[in-house]
Amino acid sequence: MTLRFYDTASATVKDFQPVYPGEARLYYCGATVQGAPHIGHVRSALVFDQLARWLAFRGYKVTTVRNVTDIDDKILVNSAASFEPDYAGNHPREEWWALAYRFERVFGDAYAALGIAAPTYEPRATGHIPEMHALIQKLIDDGHAYPAQDDSGDVYFDVRSWPRYGELTRQRVEDMQDAPDADPRGKRDPRDFALWKGHKADEPETAGWDSPWGKGRPGWHLECSAMAAKYVGTHFDIHGGGLDLRFPHHENELAQSTAAGQEFANFWLHNGLVTYQAKKCPSRSATRYPPSRCSPRPVRWPCATTWGRPTTVRSWTTDPRHCRKRRRRSSVWRPCWSLRAPRG
Ligand SMILES: [Zn+2]
Repeated sequence: MTLRFYDTASATVKDFQPVYPGEARLYYCGATVQGAPHIGHVRSALVFDQLARWLAFRGYKVTTVRNVTDIDDKILVNSAASFEPDYAGNHPREEWWALAYRFERVFGDAYAALGIAAPTYEPRATGHIPEMHALIQKLIDDGHAYPAQDDSGDVYFDVRSWPRYGELTRQRVEDMQDAPDADPRGKRDPRDFALWKGHKADEPETAGWDSPWGKGRPGWHLECSAMAAKYVGTHFDIHGGGLDLRFPHHENELAQSTAAGQEFANFWLHNGLVTYQAKKCPSRSATRYPPSRCSPRPVRWPCATTWGRPTTVRSWTTDPRHCRKRRRRSSVWRPCWSLRAPRG
């Protein structure tokens, strides 16, 4: 029986034909390790773990890659907050890289608690700066990127240079939001997005790398393009991630990689979000109810059965009376989360 997947890019269900016979190569976007995860932050890891297990069961040699974004605006902001005189947390004066390591381990604990298998490769963004430089240079040489003219050290992707820009989310450039990732003064078009971010005076010296365009750090979208090409190749089977990553992150990944001459992913698969009161899970739920305290089966089942649709958090309670009541109904139901799959 042929495997068929709903491909977000074409909005159709397509037969799965691997790029390399007998193999299935899957890249999906991992965590930005800026803080502790809640269940919504680990949902894509969970559903793509389930997909990888299914592909392996069907006889494919499966390669999975889940990146770690360990340099990012929010990581720097959270680290800087720990140096403030009024900081009241448990990790004062925590360098950005120490904060990122710490939360990478918290995510690892959450994956393990939910029975999520480790991917074949789990590359960190900061370990792939040379690959990112090479990709930026290729885009500049081909006329799809340019260094900012304002001496900021930024390099931008030129969205007007790539007629296919918008193909993933089926949008026209004219209808898109501006990219709020850098000062627009250095941009040719406010929708151009940053491939390389010049170092700023108020950022730690350790948060910058030398480059042909000046000291700086990579843009988020670029990280995934560079790491995908390295670990699953320039043409691979499936790119995954949460629905909220379709735009701008995945649209920009696709534009960068294809403008650089790559075929990139045959399928784009997106998992639905975990919602609470019809919204994405609030971040405060991460510290109150960490996934590492969850029992795997009550979490894995609703996430698996809903796939691209939202999974609703019905209750955040860890009230022992609630848990006892649930336990009577099912021996596996030991919730710190109560998840509900929507009907239909
Ligand atoms: Zn990504």
